[in-house]
Amino acid sequence: MDMNRRNVLKGAALTAVGAVGATTLVACAPTASSDKQDEVLSATGGDQYNTAATAQRPWAFEVAPDPIPADQIAETIEADVVVVGCGTSGLMAANSAAEEGLDAIIVSASTKPTSRGGSNNAVYCKAFEAQGYPCVPIDQYQKEIFCQAHKVDQRKWYLHHNNSEEAMNWACDLMEKADYGIDTEIGTPDKEDSLYPQRTAAVGWNLNGQTPPEDGLEVVTGKMQPLFVWELARHLTDDLGGRIFYRNIAEQLIREDDNTGRVTAVICKREDGSYAQYVGHKAIVLATGDFSGDRDMMRRYCPETADYVKDDVCDSEPDWDQGFKYGGICKG
Ligand SMILES: Cc1cc2nc3c(=O)[nH]c(=O)nc-3n(C[C@H](O)[C@H](O)[C@H](O)COP(=O)(O)OP(=O)(O)OC[C@H]3O[C@@H](n4cnc5c(N)ncnc54)[C@H](O)[C@@H]3O)c2cc1C
Repeated sequence: MDMNRRNVLKGAALTAVGAVGATTLVACAPTASSDKQDEVLSATGGDQYNTAATAQRPWAFEVAPDPIPADQIAETIEADVVVVGCGTSGLMAANSAAEEGLDAIIVSASTKPTSRGGSNNAVYCKAFEAQGYPCVPIDQYQKEIFCQAHKVDQRKWYLHHNNSEEAMNWACDLMEKADYGIDTEIGTPDKEDSLYPQRTAAVGWNLNGQTPPEDGLEVVTGKMQPLFVWELARHLTDDLGGRIFYRNIAEQLIREDDNTGRVTAVICKREDGSYAQYVGHKAIVLATGDFSGDRDMMRRYCPETADYVKDDVCDSEPDWDQGFKYGGICKG
């Protein structure tokens, strides 16, 4: 029997789907098949840990949702690249695409550009060079990976090693052109016999006497990403012709070839309850941050840390504008 969204809403999965259904971004993947509809995994239904038995069953979020009816889609907006999420990653992706001459747009649940972190790390950059601070050696990355018991996605770490100097120099140029000051945060070197003999270093920015782009914006050492994301958003829209659609919560992805091909569009819910469809002719980029607020996804992908997420992160709607804060926020 085909397992569709309506069937899944029976039984154990009900609570979990209800809790996350409003915000979880689900691809219209091919419909899963099973002759036992109730055998859908759900953390709130008692499936706390992955086992050999549970590995045979799909998680609720892996089952395709019923499509949003076409007559509920009030507007269709097209671009070359559609980026979902207006945090640092989404803004960098959209700026990069727009600088390559593509028509890039961002759709975001937030009401403004958002940033979660403080300092801006790179393997090396012109700001470090000006301070006489050395390039982070490759064995430092290997030590970091070792400290994470080799569980990290090593390709990403080496992407950082290979590309972060170019990216940070681009960022320094952007901020200098906007007349902001550049700061470096240089930590204290660890002892010679430590796993971390290297000092860590990061780049930050100061207002250089300018008015903050947002009322009350705090620009202090260790919390300097907000200034950067505001400038990224300004550069995208004012200098590169990109567009940002805030207050758009992405709910479903559209795939071509009867739900087997590439993702071509994303459907977002807007403040007035209507839906808008954003078509990306070349790419849809998901940059929606963490998924700590979805218990099932945490059980599936991060079982070793799922127990540490506080209940209110999963049981409440995220603050889409949330800045610096420990603990999870988003729902994937
Ligand atoms: C307390 C803390 C301190 C940190 N300190 C540092 C640091 O010093 N240096 C450092 O390099 N990194 C630091 N980090 C990590 C860094 O901040 C994050 O890795 C980075 O912010 C992730 O950026 P992102 O764009 O991927 O996600 P986010 O910044 O989380 O952005 C996600 C965006 O997507 C939007 N969104 C989410 N779901 C949807 C949806 N369904 N539809 C539409 N939009 C959606 C959100 O509103 C948001 O705008 C820190 C993180 C935390 C939490």
